[in-house]
Amino acid sequence: MTPFTFTRAADPAAAIARATADGARYLGGGTNLVDLMRETIEQPAALVDVTGLDQAITELADGSIRIGAAARNTAIAEHRLIRTRYPVLTRAIVAGASAQIRNMATAGGNLLQRTRCTYFYDNEGSRCNKRQSGQGCDAIGGFHRGHAILGASDACIATHPSDMCVALAALDASVELDGPTGPRSVELADFHLLPGDTPHIETVLQPGELITAITLPSSPLAARSTYRKVRDRASYAFALVSVAAALEVEHGLVSGVRLALGGVAHRPWRCRVAEGHLVGRSASEETFLAAADAELAAARPLADNAFKIELARRTIAATLADLAENGQ
Ligand SMILES: Cc1cc2nc3c(=O)[nH]c(=O)nc-3n(C[C@H](O)[C@H](O)[C@H](O)COP(=O)(O)OP(=O)(O)OC[C@H]3O[C@@H](n4cnc5c(N)ncnc54)[C@H](O)[C@@H]3O)c2cc1C
Ligand code: SF4
Repeated sequence: MTPFTFTRAADPAAAIARATADGARYLGGGTNLVDLMRETIEQPAALVDVTGLDQAITELADGSIRIGAAARNTAIAEHRLIRTRYPVLTRAIVAGASAQIRNMATAGGNLLQRTRCTYFYDNEGSRCNKRQSGQGCDAIGGFHRGHAILGASDACIATHPSDMCVALAALDASVELDGPTGPRSVELADFHLLPGDTPHIETVLQPGELITAITLPSSPLAARSTYRKVRDRASYAFALVSVAAALEVEHGLVSGVRLALGGVAHRPWRCRVAEGHLVGRSASEETFLAAADAELAAARPLADNAFKIELARRTIAATLADLAENGQ
């Protein structure tokens, strides 16, 4: 590991002041960043520990929920307001990693965890445009069974690995930021970028910007929500395809729906096309499959990951059917 300095930030202003130094990075639970440092994929000159900052999960006057960026994944999943009002978020977090990792991982770090593309981690032997711009992408002609089918580019076909972010995309969450130019708020759905020609630029974060909180808007619909994750092993594996969904049915017709996919794109994939297809139609398997087909018409798979289209199609339909029948 390359030598680095380590400091603990006492408040956001102190963290931002320290992080504006060259080569400085924020440190959450360290469950991703430290691994990347060991592999010399990331080599920060300074780490600014932000786990002592805001960990509170609070209800605001308008009924929205604010989650401090230093809140641990376990604390979020177990919180009474999250379990009862946003069950999709609890289920998504619990579907990820292991209990030990969830106890360490923070909300801010989860948003910024990096892809699990094996070529990205193979610093010595593989070409990767995300590690080094213009180098090439060994996944495209290589092993890409787990890679993206939506929104990918000729430069990168990696997927975003977070389960939590898929639920946040479906919930219309926003990310609160602070930095050298002051505070701002970004919709979660706009926070992560598609790869285009610059796959090394993964989010809209500016240098030195700190994630301070995540906000979940008040939503009666969110109480009828769930998360389904399809993976190679029953636990401790990243998603091949995952679905975060909330559904409201009145007199047999879909009156409200939120849908997002994980494991299929460089960012959590909010399914606006499918949502538009569902509202006002009968809550039937036929409708659910047709909505999934409409969303997945944009899919551009490679040889080894074409199975994800049918997998996503059936997982969307099964998840919506569960919600229509059981509300979860
Ligand atoms: C074996 C293993 C299995 C896993 N399985 C899953 C899984 O199935 N599903 C899943 O979703 N995840 C999984 N994970 C990933 C895990 O969820 C992430 O490692 C974790 O969420 C990262 O959080 P952290 O706080 O430890 O981040 P860190 O590793 O501390 O940081 C990650 C990034 O976030 C930045 N950062 C941290 N906090 C802030 C902040 N407040 N503002 C700005 N930048 C910040 C850091 O600079 C760094 O770039 C797995 C991880 C491991 C090691
Ligand atoms: S898919 Fe993206 S992350 Fe993976 S090797 Fe290609 S450029 Fe790198």
